[in-house]
Amino acid sequence: MSARAQSSSACVDGVDPQLQLIWSAHGFGVLDPFRDGTFRVAVTAPATSGQQSEPTLADIQRQVDRVFPHRLPLRDATWLTVLRSGHRQLLDYRHGRVLFAGDAAHTHNPAGGQGMNIGLHDAFNLGWKLAAVVTGDAPERLLDIYHDERHPAAARVLAHTQRSMQLAHLRSPLSRVLRDQVVHHLPAALRRRLLEQVAGLDVDYAPAGGRPRPGPQPFRPERGSPTSRS
Ligand SMILES: Cc1cc2nc3c(=O)[nH]c(=O)nc-3n(C[C@H](O)[C@H](O)[C@H](O)COP(=O)(O)OP(=O)(O)OC[C@H]3O[C@@H](n4cnc5c(N)ncnc54)[C@H](O)[C@@H]3O)c2cc1C
Repeated sequence: MSARAQSSSACVDGVDPQLQLIWSAHGFGVLDPFRDGTFRVAVTAPATSGQQSEPTLADIQRQVDRVFPHRLPLRDATWLTVLRSGHRQLLDYRHGRVLFAGDAAHTHNPAGGQGMNIGLHDAFNLGWKLAAVVTGDAPERLLDIYHDERHPAAARVLAHTQRSMQLAHLRSPLSRVLRDQVVHHLPAALRRRLLEQVAGLDVDYAPAGGRPRPGPQPFRPERGSPTSRS
């Protein structure tokens, strides 16, 4: 599903500084308190709703009023933007001597807020491989493994965020009730797995699967074949 998200940093009057997430018939909304007393406010709207230019605070207020069940008066915005969801991923992260990372390699809708996170994973993964190849500690084919490891990781995020956006924009009231009930009663283990997915902690570069290995792993060139440590 194609969607847009309008986002703003603003003051919101009369609201507890607590994270609020809402799925409504009109889209998905997030109210995220910052330490300085302001909030990040983000609301989605189907791409079919039109607006092409950057939003005003009044535009965002209108969508906030539609999505949130209670009034959230916004004022003194310091930042306003619109994210147009383009679900795109390069087929190959390596084109000869050019290697792609971050948003240049993959973009997805804002559900989960993972864009920067997976871009940093790309950079870390690629950085040490480049260094190892440049210093002669690893063969050049190690760079191909960057694509092999990071492409599937981003592909999973794209698939998850696509599904999240579809869930956020369910049209039928019955489907929405079912969705809310299922989400409300998710077993703790499944909830934890979903959180690990969003945080990128489920990444596992082991060829045959196995236990997730978050964080740096020791690089062992003595094994005789290129391996990974991120
Ligand atoms: C409103 C909003 C909220 C977000 N919230 C989150 C979040 O909560 N969590 C999260 O993980 N992600 C979030 N993201 C996504 C995240 O910001 C991006 O995924 C991340 O910034 C991408 O980093 P990047 O370095 O790959 O690309 P960019 O940040 O786009 O950096 C690319 C840089 O290259 C420069 N550039 C482009 N072309 C050229 C050129 N020809 N020559 C020289 N320089 C050039 C650009 O000016 C830019 O500075 C959010 C994005 C938005 C818009």
